[in-house]
Amino acid sequence: MLKLFTVVCMFVKESVMILSPFQVDDHYEVYCVDTRRLQTVSRDLNSCSCCLHINVGVPCSHIFAVLAYTSHDLFQPDLVADRWLTFTAF
Ligand SMILES: [Zn+2]
Repeated sequence: MLKLFTVVCMFVKESVMILSPFQVDDHYEVYCVDTRRLQTVSRDLNSCSCCLHINVGVPCSHIFAVLAYTSHDLFQPDLVADRWLTFTAF
């Protein structure tokens, strides 16, 4: 069974909870209504112009916004760095 470290679970939960202020377009540009900032997510969802995913190894809220926009499952284990994943027998 795949498990995430608790701190990563909390981060993912917080990121998903703040999806509402985002507007996403077909070019995967994510506009935050609250901050008035525009971020761009790569087509393969492996990077974002905010660099959080590259630096921390956990998808940022912009990537989650694109996943929601494209009707993908919000949790994509392959978007989480291996260092945050553990495997257990149960
Ligand atoms: Zn981002």
